[in-house]
Amino acid sequence: MLTPGNRKLGGRRIWGFALPSGTPDVCPGMSATCRAHCYAAAVERYRPTAAAAYRRNRTRARRRDFVVRVRAFLIAHAVAVVRVHTGGDFYSPGYARKWLRVMRRAPRVTFYFYTRSWRVPAIRAVIEQMAALPNCVAWYSCDRDTGVPPGVPARVRLAWLATSDDDVPPAGLDLVFRIRRLRHRPVAPGGPPVCPSEDGVTRNRPVTCDRCGVCWHPARLRRFPLPVIESTR
Ligand code: SF4
Repeated sequence: MLTPGNRKLGGRRIWGFALPSGTPDVCPGMSATCRAHCYAAAVERYRPTAAAAYRRNRTRARRRDFVVRVRAFLIAHAVAVVRVHTGGDFYSPGYARKWLRVMRRAPRVTFYFYTRSWRVPAIRAVIEQMAALPNCVAWYSCDRDTGVPPGVPARVRLAWLATSDDDVPPAGLDLVFRIRRLRHRPVAPGGPPVCPSEDGVTRNRPVTCDRCGVCWHPARLRRFPLPVIESTR
């Protein structure tokens, strides 16, 4: 169901939950930009066992006892941090409400996610209830197709997917992600922070989310600046 860590998340501190990705039935807010650069859909293409696990999770998510089962899993594995949707997204209001119930019933667990389902008003209403919880960090994913939503709640943060050097995020963005071919290039000064695993800086250890914490750790959830991570240059 949930799996501990991966190359991006790091060791076993952060557990991920993934669904299939890249189609409107599982990613109803997707844009042409995110579909073209979806890392999760790529994982499904070259790792069939992962794709099968994501399909099993979709079946689990449809069950009436999903909330009870997730909560039991969190307790059994002493999970402290959950990255909801390492693949997939909130695909319906009913499914989003299930995660809302999980978050309410597991107040000691930190949940965080990036979502484009803010583009679907009925799902966005549930997401904003999640964002109001003290144990949840919600990121609205944006790009040049979606633009930035109006009326962002105070606790919701904004992430931008940059797809070219001239893809400059609008004002007010909290964090920038970059597509793979841009990640080795240094970041131009003056813009919003870039995820340190994608900022072109050579480091003596790869940056992982469990050590970085910018997206989920309460002590680092300030808009600026990102934590200083040791560089080799
Ligand atoms: S900013 Fe940090 S926590 Fe967020 S995705 Fe990048 S490495 Fe992970």
